[in-house]
Amino acid sequence: MFRATIKNINAARAPSNCSKLQKFDLIVIGSGSGLDVVNAIYQHGLKVAVIEKDRMGGTCLNRGCIPSKLLIHSADVAEIINRSHLFGLKVNGFSVDFPALLERVNRIVDSESNELRKALEGRENPKLFVKKCKFVGEKTISMVDDENHNETIIGDKILIASGTRPRIPEINGLKETSYITSDEALRLRTQPKVLTIIGGGYIASEFAHFFGALGTKINIIQRGSVLIPEEDEEISKKFTEIFSKKYNVYLDYKIESVSNDNDGDNANKVIVKAKNSSGKLVELGSDQLLVAAGRVPNSDILDLERTGVKINKRGFIIVDRYLETNVKGIFAFGDVIGRYLFKHNANHEAQYAYYNLLHPKSMIHVNYFAMPHAIFSSPQVAGVGFKEQELVKEQQKNNNPKNILEYQKFVYPYIKTGMGQAIDDRDGFVKFLVRKTDRKILGCHILGSQASTLIHEVLVAMKANTKNGKAGTIDNITRTIHIHPALSEVVARAAASNI
Ligand SMILES: Cc1cc2nc3c(=O)[nH]c(=O)nc-3n(C[C@H](O)[C@H](O)[C@H](O)COP(=O)(O)OP(=O)(O)OC[C@H]3O[C@@H](n4cnc5c(N)ncnc54)[C@H](O)[C@@H]3O)c2cc1C
Repeated sequence: MFRATIKNINAARAPSNCSKLQKFDLIVIGSGSGLDVVNAIYQHGLKVAVIEKDRMGGTCLNRGCIPSKLLIHSADVAEIINRSHLFGLKVNGFSVDFPALLERVNRIVDSESNELRKALEGRENPKLFVKKCKFVGEKTISMVDDENHNETIIGDKILIASGTRPRIPEINGLKETSYITSDEALRLRTQPKVLTIIGGGYIASEFAHFFGALGTKINIIQRGSVLIPEEDEEISKKFTEIFSKKYNVYLDYKIESVSNDNDGDNANKVIVKAKNSSGKLVELGSDQLLVAAGRVPNSDILDLERTGVKINKRGFIIVDRYLETNVKGIFAFGDVIGRYLFKHNANHEAQYAYYNLLHPKSMIHVNYFAMPHAIFSSPQVAGVGFKEQELVKEQQKNNNPKNILEYQKFVYPYIKTGMGQAIDDRDGFVKFLVRKTDRKILGCHILGSQASTLIHEVLVAMKANTKNGKAGTIDNITRTIHIHPALSEVVARAAASNI
């Protein structure tokens, strides 16, 4: 529906005006995907304000997807060097120039964020406020900047796109310890020799790959019995098995305490004590401790009770299928509503928020069908749709045999394809879950090289033919000629594996 362009914004620069209580047609809180809506909506002649307390561009640009993937590319290159002997090459190791590696990342990220800010600064519409804000009335927002200057504005409509921040679990001693979160891990000045990671989700797995491939010794402490537990069970199990060979993975461990060890040789080391369900205690010393234990919504800092906007038990803002909260005219989207915490989802929802804000009488509901995700670790993981454990659960709770969702599973390993052999991917596989009655793709899960790219043809197949009643069947893939021996042959072979 739209794309944010700096060019469009520059075209509408206007002199500034400093009245104290300004009124806007729309106030957007957050400059992540919120900025997409700002840039699209002011072009309809509406007076728009955007409030951002931090760097422009939100989590993805400054503390998330972009810096992490720039860093991970260095890790991927390191891994290729480490595996080069498999391909008949003798490479005598490598050394890491950590400051140079980080400088590259920060330069790219900071310059993009600065561009976004420059494009808005000094403009009257959209008007940028670099301040921390909270509600003081139903549609009245008070803001304060670093120098404690206060300002209050009123919006006819409000869009909350305030995202999330790292969750810090209640752990004995943690608050007094020099731990880092993903925010700081992306800007470290020195490479840790040993890194302990609390958590076993996708952020933990991506950082383990980044630091681990560069030579840092990694300890991972995970409460559950597998890493990346949100994935299809077969994927989580295989991933856990691969990670356990590379890193010290402690599964089913609960942290007892965290402390700084300031003694002699161990100066500045962090000590983590953890116990498993059978009472076995481990004590891990490391020079950095990364807390990657999930995300919490930035709803608590907004004083939402002043507006009456409702949140759920976990603090995520409750919206209807049009992204409107229980208060008419206040919308919310992206991470802060907690449906899918991915940038592509925030961008997707931004398009609906934009449309629905402009067309209150003919709003359209968000279509989340075939929402994919990926983990950029090693191995990569990507998935869409149902996981097998969800289908099994569905079957178990359904007593009526007529309603049972019968599915078939098609699996194919990378190593049985030409390109899989060329790159020596011995672990990778593609798994399809397909409805027996009509061959509709229910889910697809990939573990292995380029999984984040390979999943895309499955997404297109799932969305294809939606008009002729044969929506999203696996035959969309089997009928397509695939280039031999491109890696995508593994997807085609998996799709055709039961024909
Ligand atoms: C390490 C990491 C890696 C990630 N990698 C990926 C990936 O590879 N792919 C992917 O799809 N997703 C990834 N994500 C998730 C992705 O970054 C988020 O889903 C996305 O940024 C959410 O966008 P948003 O607009 O909802 O919120 P955000 O981008 O978080 O924007 C919210 C903005 O609101 C501002 N704000 C909050 N409260 C206030 C206030 N009171 N006053 C003023 N401003 C306020 C914040 O400063 C922030 O800039 C990653 C996240 C992390 C942490």
